[in-house]
Amino acid sequence: MNTSAPGPRAEIDLAALRANVRTLRERAPGAAYMAVVKADGYGHGAVACARAAREAGADWLGTATPAEALALRAAGLDGRLMCWLWTPGGPWREAIEADVDVSVSGMWALDEVTAAARAAGRAARVQLKADTGLGRSGCQPADWPELVGAALRAEAEGAIRVTGLWSHFACADEPGHPSIAAQITLFHEMTGHAERAGLRPEVRHLANSPATLTLPEAHFDLVRPGVAMYGLSPSPQMGTAADFGLRPVMTLKAPLALVKHVPGGHGVSYGHAYTTPGDTTLGLVPLGYGDGVPRHASGTGPVLVAGKWRTVAGRVAMDQFVVDLGGEEPPAGTEAVLFGPGDQGEPGAEDWARAAGTIVYEIVTRIGARVPRVHLHA
Ligand SMILES: *Cc1c(COP(=O)(O)O)cnc(C)c1O
Repeated sequence: MNTSAPGPRAEIDLAALRANVRTLRERAPGAAYMAVVKADGYGHGAVACARAAREAGADWLGTATPAEALALRAAGLDGRLMCWLWTPGGPWREAIEADVDVSVSGMWALDEVTAAARAAGRAARVQLKADTGLGRSGCQPADWPELVGAALRAEAEGAIRVTGLWSHFACADEPGHPSIAAQITLFHEMTGHAERAGLRPEVRHLANSPATLTLPEAHFDLVRPGVAMYGLSPSPQMGTAADFGLRPVMTLKAPLALVKHVPGGHGVSYGHAYTTPGDTTLGLVPLGYGDGVPRHASGTGPVLVAGKWRTVAGRVAMDQFVVDLGGEEPPAGTEAVLFGPGDQGEPGAEDWARAAGTIVYEIVTRIGARVPRVHLHA
């Protein structure tokens, strides 16, 4: 892609991503590494990020949906790849034939994957997911013996191979939360039961980014960091990305589309939620909620323009928003930086998360398809 694209764009620093993968692998030296690239690589571009993560030593790739996993295969990514969010009638056979490890949380899924494997004449690689306390997907402890028993029978028949046992944390980003230790204990119990029953998984895994960064006792055989690989701290409470030696991968910027003088008392953008306090200059930033700039950041979102932090003046519109430049007159085309790693003093994605009352995950993931991703250092 053209790296000198003049318009609005999200620059994706793949060298930073590779460095983050190496940093995270050092945090979990005994464990394999799964690069989580769901939701188009948290908005960074799944294929480019998956390739870069592989280059930096990621053993596995992970996605939520089977469609995401199959798209990675179609783009030529080989090696271990897992997806976990299935619905009845999903593309089991395609996944089996593409050598994708699939997650099973309940009997309906085990039945469907077993039938698809018989039809394909090829064993499916299945990872059984335990609900150790998140209360989302995963098999409840009360139903686990039945699921494990059925998986053992399907294995004996040759239809499946149970490659993994796994679970997911609810509150790993809140250090000291009592659910953390309870989930680890239950994970030991549920994996122990499955192994005593006769399953021999290659990998047992539980750790997302917060657990990879702070809970070595949760690393088991494999860690699954997502947000930290993109150089973002999972929560302000845990510290900054820099505290963990991580570097933000995405920089969102756009050239000012217009700079103009306006008199005091001038309403700005829909609803006139902002009125100029006196004679001033306004800069027009050609990004809006259609591009994923949160409308909730109206009046609060920070932007670096010509060396100074400015604030979204009035409402974020679908395609554009305005900043009050306080009388300064940078020319049209001057770069406005919404967030990035901070090298030029620009805000971070966490500043936008705070401004919009959300989490950094949502800020980067929602950057829209209209914004070109410019991958640097591929
Ligand atoms: C999204 C996700 C991850 C990665 O979570 P982060 O907090 O971004 O590290 C890991 N495992 C599962 C099951 C997920 O859905």
